[in-house]
Amino acid sequence: MSTILSPGDVKLRDGRSVDFANLDIAATAPCLRVVADAVAELLPFYGSVHRGAGALSERCTREYEQARETVADFLGARDGDTVVFTRNTTDALNLLARVVPEGAAVLTFDAEHHANLLPWKKTVHLDAPRSPQEAVAALEDALRRERCGLVSVTAASNVTGEVWPVTALADVAHRFGARLAVDAAQLAPHAPVDLTALGADYVAFSGHKVYAPFGAGVLAGRADWLDAAEPYLAGGGASAHVDDDAGVRWATGPARHEAGTPNLLGAVAIAAACRELAGADHPAERALVARLRAGLAELPHVEELRLFGPEAQRVGIVSFAVLGEDPGELATRLGRDHGIGVRTGLFCAHPLTRRLLAEATARLDPSAQAPAQAVRASFGLGTTQAHIDRLLAALR
Ligand code: PMP
Repeated sequence: MSTILSPGDVKLRDGRSVDFANLDIAATAPCLRVVADAVAELLPFYGSVHRGAGALSERCTREYEQARETVADFLGARDGDTVVFTRNTTDALNLLARVVPEGAAVLTFDAEHHANLLPWKKTVHLDAPRSPQEAVAALEDALRRERCGLVSVTAASNVTGEVWPVTALADVAHRFGARLAVDAAQLAPHAPVDLTALGADYVAFSGHKVYAPFGAGVLAGRADWLDAAEPYLAGGGASAHVDDDAGVRWATGPARHEAGTPNLLGAVAIAAACRELAGADHPAERALVARLRAGLAELPHVEELRLFGPEAQRVGIVSFAVLGEDPGELATRLGRDHGIGVRTGLFCAHPLTRRLLAEATARLDPSAQAPAQAVRASFGLGTTQAHIDRLLAALR
C-alpha cells in the first residue's frame, strides 16, 4: 500500500515535538502519495476535456474517461451503469434526488448523515434500528405499508462506524419494486463497495475521504433515471444541440449531469486512489478499532456511542461521550498537549448523535446530563497503534 503524505511532527504547548496523530480521517483523509503523483504527472499536460483538439486536450480527455472506467471497475458497475463525477457525496446524493421519478417517495432511516437525509423531496423516515436485523425487518414492514421508489442507506455510519446490511436491504427493496442507493462515503475508504456484489442500484462517495483530496466525488448506478431527468446543471457539455431559438437537445450518459468544465484532476485523483484501494483488506485497522474500544471501555468517564450491539462490525470510526469535560476544550487540549486531531460535534447527523449521546451518558451515569457534543476518533491508512495509545493515555 502506498504511503500517505503526512505533516510529520507538530510542536506541542510544552515545546516538545511529536508526529501528528490524525484521528479525524473520517472528516477528510490525507492524500495518498500515488494520488499526488498521478496529479503531478498530469499537470504539465493540463488542458481542456472534451473541448479541444491538440495533444493536451486529447490526453486530458483520454485521462478523464479512463478515470471514469477505473471508478466503474472499482465499484463493480454493471454494463449500462453510468458513472458521474460530482463534487462530493453531498453533491452526488443531491443529483440522485433530482433524478428520482416525480412523485416517488424515498425511504431513509433516522440514522443518516444530513447529506442522505435532507436532499429528498418526498420522504418516508424510519426510526434508527437497534441492529442490522432490525433494519431489514423494519424496511420490509414499511415497504409493505408504503410504496417507495428508492431506499437510501449509509453503508457505514460516520458517527458509530457501524456497518449496515446493504445487501439484505437491497434484496428487500427490490422485492417491493424499490431501488437502493448506498451512501458509501465512510465505507469506500475501508472496504470494497461493489454495486454488483451488494445488489445496490446507486452508490455515492467522496474523493477526499478515499485519500484523493482534489474536489471530486462520484454517483454511479442505473442509467435510466439519470438519462430521463433534467440535467443537474444546464450549460455546455450537457447540451448535445442548441437551436437559434435556444431549443435544446440534452446529452445522455454522464455528460448530461456534468455541464461546465469538469474537474479533471479530481477525477484522475479518485481513479488513482481506487486503483490503490481496490481489493485492499485492512486487518491492521480492525485491530486498532478493537484496541481503541477496549481502552475506552476501561475509562470510567468515557462511553462509546453505538446504535447496534457492541459486537457489530465497524470501520475505523469510534465516537464517545466524555463526562465532566467540555468537548471543545478537550479537543483543543488533545491537539495542543498531545498532537492528536479528533472531531467534536454532532457530525452532521444531529438526530442520531443526540440520541446516542443521551443513551451513552445514561449507561455511564443515569443522573448525569449528556454532553452537548460527542468526540470522534477516526482512522485508516497511516494510523499507528502508538496514535491510538496516545489518545487513550491522554483521555486517561
Ligand atoms: N455521508 C456520510 C456518511 C459522511 O460521513 C459524509 C461526510 N462527513 C457525507 C455523506 C458527506 O460527504 P461530503 O462532505 O464529502 O459531501
